[in-house]
Amino acid sequence: MVGTKQVRHLYWGLGPGPPTTISGVILALIVQKFGGSSVADAESIKRVARRIVDTRKAGNEVVVAVSAMGDSTDELLDLAHQVTPLPAPRELDMLLTAGERISMALLAMAIKSMGYDARSFTGSQAGMITDASHGSARIVDVTPGRIRDALDEGAVAIVAGFQGFNRDTKDITTLGRGGSDTTAVALAAALGADICEIYTDVDGVFTADPRVVPNARKLDRISSEEMLELAAAGAKVLYIRAVEYARRHGVTLHVRSSFNNNIGTIVFNADTARANGETVEEPIIAGIAADLSEAKVTVVGVPDIPGKAALIFKIVAKTNANVDMIVQNVSAAATGLTDISFTLPKSEGEKVLTALTNEQINVGFASLQYDDQIGKLALVGGGMRTNSGVSAKLFEALYEAGINIEMISTSEIRISVVTRADTINEAMRVVHTAFGLDGDVPVTVHGGTGR
Ligand code: ASP
Ligand code: MG
Repeated sequence: MVGTKQVRHLYWGLGPGPPTTISGVILALIVQKFGGSSVADAESIKRVARRIVDTRKAGNEVVVAVSAMGDSTDELLDLAHQVTPLPAPRELDMLLTAGERISMALLAMAIKSMGYDARSFTGSQAGMITDASHGSARIVDVTPGRIRDALDEGAVAIVAGFQGFNRDTKDITTLGRGGSDTTAVALAAALGADICEIYTDVDGVFTADPRVVPNARKLDRISSEEMLELAAAGAKVLYIRAVEYARRHGVTLHVRSSFNNNIGTIVFNADTARANGETVEEPIIAGIAADLSEAKVTVVGVPDIPGKAALIFKIVAKTNANVDMIVQNVSAAATGLTDISFTLPKSEGEKVLTALTNEQINVGFASLQYDDQIGKLALVGGGMRTNSGVSAKLFEALYEAGINIEMISTSEIRISVVTRADTINEAMRVVHTAFGLDGDVPVTVHGGTGR
């Protein structure tokens, strides 16, 4: 059970401000986010409602951000595409936001039936102000006056995740897939919450995806910087935009399971912690993530003279593709030609190949190669900054498993390698073992997608 003591013990001192005192009782303001898999059916909604009521009973103020039930967002998307191959973006947002309206109202009803006051709010009612870009809107302001009022009147406020409102167009927007995480974090920041709990169907953030590495370990803590690198490298437990928002606004996250009461993973801002005088010991390796969604483009036979790389990436940039790793080979002395390879999301492959082909004569390259059978593995850890030998150990582990490395890139706290797609799972396991990350017991996975 989430008892008063446990909540207080866990959360005191983590929030941006001191705990509020009302007639001698210390209250925390807790934002809780429940993903689609946690509210997939009526039974689950009642289970989540009980958890919210328990948190409220313990004396906390509770704001909830909720996703659409189960896979209903995907079902609505399918429906739209059955009506037309290219749904109008404004209408698509109107349609998709209906999913969260359903879950928020049901959740509020369930809480009320348990004798506690609850009120649901759409994104616009909750003051989630966004820019105008349908399908991937960014939050520009949060004016949660009605949420604050509901809390002051003792109610639990339930907010529809993933949606907002643009002041100029006066239209409803959505924040992009998985946007409910961002809704929760933005509300936590605007309300000065003590903690933002992200409830999901796994126990927290793991050293690797437990479905690939069965003896992955749950992390008790991870810095937001490490979490950002892991999310960018393919870890699906948290959305990158939500982590970014939390980091920028100093929101502490607690990723935990809605299926049990275990303590999950605290995602904290290491800079803030250091500024508060805490000693932050970062592990050399926090975790590993893998990504199979990218492809590799090789521009073969590029004249090795100044300006060619600039030209190639100018052409690529015009397509708005997200280029990740870039490698240029040493040119062969006899020909004065070189090859340049880069990775990008598979979904952007076609437009980039077309754009480059159209400019082939200008650039003067010989041919293009496209390879969508690659996998990318990233090793992340804040302690890498002060530890040498991490890359050597990584390469050694892959060599011993007979896995060939095709590309390498590094940042301050990350090393990434590209391998063949069909070796990526094996790569994950051997690297996990090599860095001593293996736990003693296999993780129970509840199924679902980790959201
Ligand atoms: N329902 C939306 C989606 O499935 C938002 C979310 O789940 O966070 O992407
Ligand atoms: Mg969802």
